[in-house]
Amino acid sequence: MVFVLYLILYGLLFAVGACLYSFLNVIIYRIPRGESFLRGRSRCPSCGRELTAGDLVPIFSFLFLRGKCRTCGEKIPVRDTLTEGFGGALACLCFWQYGGSPKAILAFGFLFLLTATALIDADTMEIPDGFSIGIALLGVLAFFIFPEIDGKARLIGAVVVSLPLFLLTLLIPGAFGGGDIKLTAAAGLFLG
Ligand SMILES: [Zn+2]
Repeated sequence: MVFVLYLILYGLLFAVGACLYSFLNVIIYRIPRGESFLRGRSRCPSCGRELTAGDLVPIFSFLFLRGKCRTCGEKIPVRDTLTEGFGGALACLCFWQYGGSPKAILAFGFLFLLTATALIDADTMEIPDGFSIGIALLGVLAFFIFPEIDGKARLIGAVVVSLPLFLLTLLIPGAFGGGDIKLTAAAGLFLG
């Protein structure tokens, strides 16, 4: 009986994580194009048809539609569906590690921003400042929610990679982008 309850609980957590990472796909598609990620329904990038509820269920819509837009037949990127599955798995892992606590939510938030940053970086070779600022803000929250990593360790974490990167770019201009330096500073603040 307890096993069944856990199965349901983890199933729900997986669904929530997949939905949040479905939103992540919207964010990383729209932000580099300068579009709002809160307003407007998603459209097929090929034929422009507005997606309906049936098209938007994470993972299941992809399987049901056999990976194609139902109007124009254009392929839906497999990466989007894999990203949703990854998000579902991460939600389960955060709960498994930290239980139903603020730690689980903060850890998931960190992984969410890190995943978005990695995929935008892969797509555009740029890291928008907003993501590093977001990670730094979570790093400030982590002072209170993960007090086992003290302030000194966090400040060291913030400079231990970013400072050498910064110095290297002074010596070899263009070796690393400014986005890398800001990201490693923010992630170091969070991780210690
Ligand atoms: Zn289409």
